[in-house]
Amino acid sequence: HWPEPTPRGNRSRLLVLAGPTAVGKGTVATYIRQNNPEIHLSISATTRPPRPGEVDGEHYYFVDDAEFDRLIADGELLEWALVHNRYRYGTPRGPIQAALDRGEAVLLEIDLQGARQVRAAQPDAALIFLAPPSWAELVNRLVGRGTEDDEERARRLRTARTELRAQDEFDYLIVNADVAEAARAVVEVLRGDHR
Ligand code: 5GP
Repeated sequence: HWPEPTPRGNRSRLLVLAGPTAVGKGTVATYIRQNNPEIHLSISATTRPPRPGEVDGEHYYFVDDAEFDRLIADGELLEWALVHNRYRYGTPRGPIQAALDRGEAVLLEIDLQGARQVRAAQPDAALIFLAPPSWAELVNRLVGRGTEDDEERARRLRTARTELRAQDEFDYLIVNADVAEAARAVVEVLRGDHR
């Protein structure tokens, strides 16, 4: 049974896309950025070093530990989490509030711990769980993208096992079998006509 779509009348236009590692959250978010530029995609701060091709201020704000500490201390993050027991990631509050104030829809692509914090801080946010078609497919995707070494891959799979159990905390469940289809379903949630 899918969760019933929540009427979105007066609800905030803040949408959280979460789900296990390697499910394709980033790919779906990028697809939405390219095809729905009217949706404001939040850029997170992280202490993780950039991967080849990642651009500061576009994919993430890459910061050191001291700067991340400062962001927390100054209350500049809506939520933050230590992800995969390794690096810290957080959502800058200012740009999101500015976009919401302009009447724009905002999409956060964050991990499960972050999604729970957003739920607590902004109960009117809509939470989407992006699920893989199967466990085997999730393992395939993680191995296939080849960005992690064996140890990091094992770490992420352990996290994913736990994260998959959290689906029922979410308002919407979208299975990511096809990126364009999944992206369309996310946009439909924002428009209030997801089925
Ligand atoms: P990656 O290192 O592969 O870019 O991201 C690792 C994980 O961090 C992903 O699950 C991603 O959703 C999560 N993540 C990215 N930005 C944020 C954020 O601002 N807050 C939280 N809580 N998680 C984030």
